[in-house]
Amino acid sequence: MSKPIRRRRPGTLNRARLGVLMALCTVLGFHVWAWYHLGDRRLDNGGVVAGVAVDAWHAVGKFSFSGLASVLVGHFNMAAVFCLAVIASLLLYGRLFCGWFCKLSAFQELTEAIYARIGFRPELVHTRARMVRMFAFVPYFLPVLYVWAEKGLSTAYFNLGAVQPWTPDLPSTVIGSLFYFAVITFGLTALFGRRAFCRLVCPFALFFQLFEKLPWIPRIQQTGRCIRCDVCDQACPMGISVQNEVLRQRVVTDPECIRCMICVDVCPVKALKYTARPVTEPAQAPQLAPTFRESAFPIGVDMFLASAAVIGGVGLATRYTGFFVFLGMSLGLIAGVAAVGLVGLLTRAFARRPAT
Ligand code: SF4
Ligand code: SF4
Repeated sequence: MSKPIRRRRPGTLNRARLGVLMALCTVLGFHVWAWYHLGDRRLDNGGVVAGVAVDAWHAVGKFSFSGLASVLVGHFNMAAVFCLAVIASLLLYGRLFCGWFCKLSAFQELTEAIYARIGFRPELVHTRARMVRMFAFVPYFLPVLYVWAEKGLSTAYFNLGAVQPWTPDLPSTVIGSLFYFAVITFGLTALFGRRAFCRLVCPFALFFQLFEKLPWIPRIQQTGRCIRCDVCDQACPMGISVQNEVLRQRVVTDPECIRCMICVDVCPVKALKYTARPVTEPAQAPQLAPTFRESAFPIGVDMFLASAAVIGGVGLATRYTGFFVFLGMSLGLIAGVAAVGLVGLLTRAFARRPAT
């Protein structure tokens, strides 16, 4: 099992990051509301100013990396523009988007804050079942392959407004949507700890990791002497052994790093910095062996969890498409852990029974 979480108050960088995430959620919430509700108002008053504003909102449509599918089939709508902007940010800054600008990042931070408020600090649990993130691409890209095979790029278009913020692959009711987001935030976090959705389900995280090989992107680097206090390891929401990485090579190269800067904030001697400066100085402890994110479970349990996630994902993805696979996989993981826990309880109960 990995270490329990010791939370610290956010420092300057993290206050800024949380502010950005809160602003993002506010804008997105207003945007979704405005997209669906201001249209009626335009019909009512027909005012020029309102009409311009409404057209602007309707032109924006969906903010999501699902625009990748739009890009691949030549549908140049606003979702495609958003997706290309994210790719540009990956080319320049690495996975900064994941830590600072993703709405699901914000929802997970909110979950942690609510849990912390009630004194619940779930342990950060690693599992090899994270490999199923690859599977989440399948239902996502099957429609793309279908379009390529059947129609080529004949359906390509340029129309920024031809996409809705709340696409049919998301629950259409308020209750359904609350359930959806509760499962992928509160449910997963309770069982697997911080950033469980990013670490175990989000397929885009895997795609984003490809950009982590780029030599010019800024990374977390050691710029002062490390006193080996372990605070950064305890604070990292992705479960990265920051201390080991910087002592061994002066830089965090783990592709799971989302540039949240929490480690930079909490380091008591300010030994860390987010920078693109080339590493030239020798490492403090190059002889250290690299540490890996060890699974909390035996490999058999990990395989079982991965299967449960895939079955859950297929179950919902065959009925619906796109993001429903996220919900199905999350429910599969949760049910898998519940089943493993139940088997463990029963095994212990039978083991304690006195022999007759
Ligand atoms: S290594 Fe630092 S910046 Fe990267 S995810 Fe961990 S805490 Fe955030
Ligand atoms: S918090 Fe700073 S001093 Fe402590 S282990 Fe991490 S890098 Fe070293």
